[in-house]
Amino acid sequence: MAERARELIQVLVEGKPLSKAEYLQVLTEADEQDREFAAECANRARIAQFGDGIFIRGLVEFTNVCKNDCLYCGIRRSNQDIVRYRLTQQQILECLEQGYAAGFRTLVLQGGEDSYFTDDRMCEIVAAVKTCHPDVAVTLSLGERSYDSYRRLREAGADRYLLRHETAVEWHYAKLHPPAQRLETRLECLRNLKALGYQVGCGMMVGSPYQTAECLAADLSFIQTFKPQMVGLGPFIPHHATPFAKEPAGGVEMTLLLLSLVRLTLPNVLLPATTALATLHPKGRLMGILSGANVIMPNLSPISQRDNYALYDNKANTGAEAAEGLATLSRELETIQCHIVIGRGDAPIDTSSPNTIQ
Ligand code: SF4
Repeated sequence: MAERARELIQVLVEGKPLSKAEYLQVLTEADEQDREFAAECANRARIAQFGDGIFIRGLVEFTNVCKNDCLYCGIRRSNQDIVRYRLTQQQILECLEQGYAAGFRTLVLQGGEDSYFTDDRMCEIVAAVKTCHPDVAVTLSLGERSYDSYRRLREAGADRYLLRHETAVEWHYAKLHPPAQRLETRLECLRNLKALGYQVGCGMMVGSPYQTAECLAADLSFIQTFKPQMVGLGPFIPHHATPFAKEPAGGVEMTLLLLSLVRLTLPNVLLPATTALATLHPKGRLMGILSGANVIMPNLSPISQRDNYALYDNKANTGAEAAEGLATLSRELETIQCHIVIGRGDAPIDTSSPNTIQ
């Protein structure tokens, strides 16, 4: 047991912040016992905040067209070896109906940065979802857009926005993206989303190429300061048609430790056990929950298109990962004394949280 790492985890348990250097110490010094301790504390924190309920979000991947070329992403612009698709508004609403009947009360509309989906088109889709089911929360994950675009979408009824910051370190951001994409732009988008009253999610991959422990410590420090309502955090998994095809996948253990540290840093955060984690380990989803996660995002997209939305290889999209596998998911959760919550599952908005990012 590394005493200092244990002490620092305890500091988080007591609701006090850590410095970047202290996060780094936890990440580099924690041994297996310390990781287990962090997971136990995070699991207790999850239960204290949310009881034994796990929120489900219905994910609709509505376009795999993207103008960007992020080096890690399977649907990047340069990948010619992929069938591109866009769902129509009608198809999206059919996914919604199917999900609603199954008990989903959050719809996550996720897509590449596809200029076909203008503000007018997206606002119409969001408004249509809200008209059909006013009790459904709409989460958007559409990448970087202007302040005005985010404002219009918010006014159309969007409640939440997921935009992973990917890394809080500029040189690392530049290793993962072409020069046209800038960390500062990404952070500006996150600030704008928060200012507009969205429940905002940021996040990063664990084990992405060139990532160091210092990068992850910077990510944790950023999350602590920015105080997002959601954090999307999963292991990096390479995609065969990207420049990172030969890079190793991120580690399950490190991902679980990060989940625990995020839960302890922001006890009421909405924290998914990601599909990437379930892809790397058959019990990844449950291990994620036992490390502090409290959200699962099953796939509501049309089955015929799921393989075409491969951000990384071997992505799990059937069984408990799929909306039609809810019964399987429910049984899995019972084995760890958890159950699916039918409801929007909003995060409390912390109006005191700063909109500045250090
Ligand atoms: S990560 Fe997002 S923005 Fe980047 S290429 Fe993939 S879909 Fe496009």
